[in-house]
Amino acid sequence: GVSLVGLRRTFGAVAALDDLTLEIHPGELLALLGPSGSGKTTALRVLAGLERAERGRVLVGGADITALPPHRRGMGMVFQAYSLFPNMTALENVAFGLRLRRVAKAERRRRAADLLDLVGLAREADRHPHQLSGGQQQRVALARALAIEPRVLLLDEPLSALDAGVRVRLREEIRRIQLEVGITTVFVTHDQEEALSLADRVAVMAEGRLEQVGTPAELYGTPRTGFVARFVGTAN
Ligand code: ATP
Repeated sequence: GVSLVGLRRTFGAVAALDDLTLEIHPGELLALLGPSGSGKTTALRVLAGLERAERGRVLVGGADITALPPHRRGMGMVFQAYSLFPNMTALENVAFGLRLRRVAKAERRRRAADLLDLVGLAREADRHPHQLSGGQQQRVALARALAIEPRVLLLDEPLSALDAGVRVRLREEIRRIQLEVGITTVFVTHDQEEALSLADRVAVMAEGRLEQVGTPAELYGTPRTGFVARFVGTAN
């Protein structure tokens, strides 16, 4: 699992993370839920090593990775905006991370093809990003994130740029793949319905702090603060 311990990160007078402590259990899908500006993305970036915390530690499997650079943390990331290389095919995009890891070419192609199959894009392997829909591009991004066999998968609003219908289908697909791979996953979203329908547990954030963490049923049934009650919809 992953432990965030007492993370603090400020931007001028704003505390984006204000003593954030959170455990993510091995193999679970945890949704980080909160309104805009609550610190979700900052938490994910600190976890990925893309942002430094002024205080606090990040542990993975008990090992302190606070000082490690991003590429040595064993994390796969998918962002909100499509971040594929436009001049590479779907297959080449997925294989790219393996090239950096000195995996031999035939093996790279084989593994990339397997991953495209996993995300349902076996037949689109030779297309370039502009020949793929938004949902298909995010599937490629997911396959690319999984290619390096990360210990943790980090998803930052991966569905927010998609149409409502595609969004629901792809989130179910992400859940299926996450369970199949069995990978510990943090899913950032500001969408209550998305978080509650998808996650094993939901961590509700407000103003850089953890309001409550629990299963969807726990948050819905016994919200600990008025904010949680309003935000997960029980007080509506
Ligand atoms: P959103 O859903 O809008 O992405 P969020 O919950 O992910 O919001 P963060 O992006 O983590 O929130 O931002 C938390 C706070 O930190 C906000 O007040 C934001 O303005 C501030 N912040 C984040 N990054 C920076 C930065 N690079 N420079 C200055 N302020 C920042």
